[in-house]
Amino acid sequence: MNIIAVIGSGTMGNGIAHTFAQFGYRVNLIDINHEALNKGLDTIDKNLDRQVVRGTLTADQKADTLQLISLHTELKEGVAQADLIVEAATENLELKLKIFRDLDAYAKADAILASNTSSISITQIASVTQRGENVIGMHFMNPVPVMKLVEVIRGYCTSDETTELVMSLSKKLDKVPVEVNDYPGFVANRILMPMINEAIYTLYEGVAGVTEIDTVMKLGMAHPMGPLQLADFIGLDVCLAILKVLQDGFGQPKYAPCPLLVNMVMAGKKGIKSGEGFYNYANGPKEATVAAKFL
Ligand code: NAD
Repeated sequence: MNIIAVIGSGTMGNGIAHTFAQFGYRVNLIDINHEALNKGLDTIDKNLDRQVVRGTLTADQKADTLQLISLHTELKEGVAQADLIVEAATENLELKLKIFRDLDAYAKADAILASNTSSISITQIASVTQRGENVIGMHFMNPVPVMKLVEVIRGYCTSDETTELVMSLSKKLDKVPVEVNDYPGFVANRILMPMINEAIYTLYEGVAGVTEIDTVMKLGMAHPMGPLQLADFIGLDVCLAILKVLQDGFGQPKYAPCPLLVNMVMAGKKGIKSGEGFYNYANGPKEATVAAKFL
């Protein structure tokens, strides 16, 4: 594996590009326009600076890392030479199916096509290609340079060889890969999202307030952040989309999104990225206050 193409330079894509380049891989970072690419590169630059300040990376290593990343707006050009392509574009089924149809046409015959999707079926994504054995889920966690886990998702047709390559490559990035099968929500979100949804129901039904719910889970269960704060961090729209995938995939009422979550997303309260969710972020994430209407 020499050249890695990363599609999407948003929250996850720039972190994935950062991580591969930091470990010496050439990365073609692809997005729909230069504005998105420059924003992604700017984030990588700032996050590398933080590592230098912390002493986990030298200034020379930062420069080497940045030098390995090239920016592309043309998918065909960005993926043509790649050995592995990690798709981290917006979580939208039609968009991902289009991207994978194009990848099947443009990527080298033996290239591995991976998706960082949080919840969309890898088997469905693979079905639009002629190389299901080379298609796999490579689900990094946010923030990618920091979080150790990679959930490696085997689609119905994914080969042993593809799985082994992705497992060993993840280890080379100093990550801990965990192999799972392709069912709704995989493992991470199948367990996490019902917990977040239950926390929202607990608030909705007036059992306790935002701070109380998060404090119980932080101090009682030793979670680094409470479920409502975590939902704001992930994005409430993303949480809602994943719960709908679980609900559709399993057909069980226990996955039905809490009406409060649905209302908040419709009202544009998506968490940190929109400035307000369960908390208000007018003064930045570090000085979050409980959003008044939930007191
Ligand atoms: P994001 O909105 O921050 O970034 C998505 C990027 O994809 C944007 O820059 C957008 O311009 C780009 N894009 C859209 N269409 C494209 C196309 N046709 N070609 C190239 N680029 C395109 O989203 P994100 O949070 O980085 O999520 C990306 C993927 O990672 C999603 O599948 C999401 O489910 C998954 N994921 C997200 C998280 C998280 O915490 N945010 C965690 C794990 C997995």
